[in-house]
Amino acid sequence: MIKPSDKALVPFVSVDNMMALVNHIGLEKILIDLASEIECDFKRWPLFDKSPRVASHSNVGVIELMPTSDGELYGFKYVNGHPKNTKKGLQTVTAFGLLADVNTGYPKLLSEMTLLTALRTAATSALVAKYLAPRNSKVMAMIGNGAQSEFQCIAFKAICGIEKVCLFDTDSNATQKAFLNLANYGLKVVKCKSSQEAILNADIITTCTADKQLATILTDNMVGAGVHINAIGGDCPGKTELHKDILLRSKIFVEYPAQTRIEGEIQQLNEDHPITEIWEVITGKSEGRTRDSQITLFDSVGFAIEDFSALKFLLTKIQDTNFFEKLDMLADPDDPRDLFGMLNRANTQ
Ligand code: NAD
Repeated sequence: MIKPSDKALVPFVSVDNMMALVNHIGLEKILIDLASEIECDFKRWPLFDKSPRVASHSNVGVIELMPTSDGELYGFKYVNGHPKNTKKGLQTVTAFGLLADVNTGYPKLLSEMTLLTALRTAATSALVAKYLAPRNSKVMAMIGNGAQSEFQCIAFKAICGIEKVCLFDTDSNATQKAFLNLANYGLKVVKCKSSQEAILNADIITTCTADKQLATILTDNMVGAGVHINAIGGDCPGKTELHKDILLRSKIFVEYPAQTRIEGEIQQLNEDHPITEIWEVITGKSEGRTRDSQITLFDSVGFAIEDFSALKFLLTKIQDTNFFEKLDMLADPDDPRDLFGMLNRANTQ
């Protein structure tokens, strides 16, 4: 067997190693540090390559590719969204991603991104809420208690100081699962029988449900003045969570308008409806919340720069650790032009 040189071996973070790394560093610390990494990259937003993700839709779900580059590194994520998967014992969302060196085009990291997506989505949600939510927010309603939900609750505790979460899901088994999982994280956790009950007295409302349709998780009469809505479940054409009237009453913040207009809650609005890009709030270029009584809405769909930040963050965290393997995924002939000779020699050894 021809042994590849070290420069041709690509670090790979498996699900097992990702879990070991998160548990080694601590979930809250990871979420806080990841939110800082995302915040730094949002401050450099204009220099990134940006395009709406490339989506391949079927009648049961979607498969998407999410690329971006800052000129030095290039990253992409492969991710799916299949709401009916859970009935087959499969995840709604699975993902993996890659980071490469722009100078050589050589990959620097390959990683699982199912867990990393849950972490980066939670870190982004809480980071945005830090800028937009009412001051001293303590209570969050968590509507949709699936795979993302506990990560969301813990990020809001660690980054925004949330003390109490009110859980609701149409499937009470999901609520019970989240309730048990959150038992030892220093949060007061309440199980609710309806979304109305969950959002009563909430400062922040997170909607994180999965359905491939125009669902109405929140109606206008349910939402009081001054709340912050973190709407992350509606992220595909024809898949939304909020009644249009809520959008008309809210100040709306998005990641990348060209993608959110296709996939977000704002697909229900006219193309020229005013929206604010969240990176502009983070850099101070635009205002965030301007009145206590204002409803702020983060119409989140998940953007490639968040995944790029997460992969870059991961690459620094695995240095000098054993939380990765090295993959032989790049051909490495002694003479770079003698790819064929390398194949021939392998046949005779
Ligand atoms: P999941 O399937 O594990 O959980 C979804 C939960 O929503 C389920 O428990 C389901 O019972 C519940 N639900 C469905 N309809 C409901 C309703 N009307 N009221 C209350 N609960 C309801 O999915 P997940 O991995 O937690 O992802 C949730 C959603 O978030 C998906 O649509 C996914 O595409 C989206 N997502 C968005 C981002 C982002 O960056 N914005 C990132 C990851 C996932």
